[in-house]
Amino acid sequence: MANKIIVAIDGYSSCGKSTIAKALARYAGYTYVDTGAMYRAIGLYTLRKGLDDEAAIIAALPHIQVGFILSDGVQHVTLNGEDVEAYIRTLEVGNQASRISQIREVRAFLVAQQQAMGRHKGIVMDGRDIGTVVFPEAELKLFLTASPEVRAQRRFDELAGKGEKPDFDAVLADVNDRDYRDTHRAESPLRQAQDAIVVDNSRMTPDEQMQLVIRLFEEKLNKLVD
Ligand code: C5P
Repeated sequence: MANKIIVAIDGYSSCGKSTIAKALARYAGYTYVDTGAMYRAIGLYTLRKGLDDEAAIIAALPHIQVGFILSDGVQHVTLNGEDVEAYIRTLEVGNQASRISQIREVRAFLVAQQQAMGRHKGIVMDGRDIGTVVFPEAELKLFLTASPEVRAQRRFDELAGKGEKPDFDAVLADVNDRDYRDTHRAESPLRQAQDAIVVDNSRMTPDEQMQLVIRLFEEKLNKLVD
């Protein structure tokens, strides 16, 4: 049997990274890790505690434990043992995650945990810096993109589906702001790894995208076996 590999999936917010990463992990029998959820969990912690200055957030890190559990077969993120999945997908927590993710110590704290999770390979991890910082040696790196409008519509639908009443222009502005912060921050800015394969899914159906990603995965495994 072929050796297990590490699949790193990076890209802008709301471009469907987690959907494709989860589906590929299921297909391959690999572990899926949503690193955005880890930043969101820290974002939630700092909002709950009213921490906003950098020094206070850094000082709180030793008191924060982020983990994952399976709840009815679905991966949920935990914060100090509490299942916080239901609270982390809001715009407010997303924005806070984007802010705290600019702090070097926060990144180092989570990157170390993410690297430990990939020690035995057989992992599909999605985020912003997986192919560049967390696993520069990942065998397969995908960089997902879609236009800001398409991504704003997807996020709008997701929020509306949760019973929120989003305003499209605000969601689009938020997507653009987050892109700017993700690509311009000093610490591990979002950028395409040199050896990443770009997948622009603006005009792909989820099925087409899945077929493409499975093909890339199988090609990579076959090459490693040769
Ligand atoms: O992917 P998601 O939108 O859940 O991520 C939330 C925020 O966490 C992003 O806006 C990004 O700023 C940050 N993040 C990061 N590095 C990662 C994953 C997420 O900086 N590997």
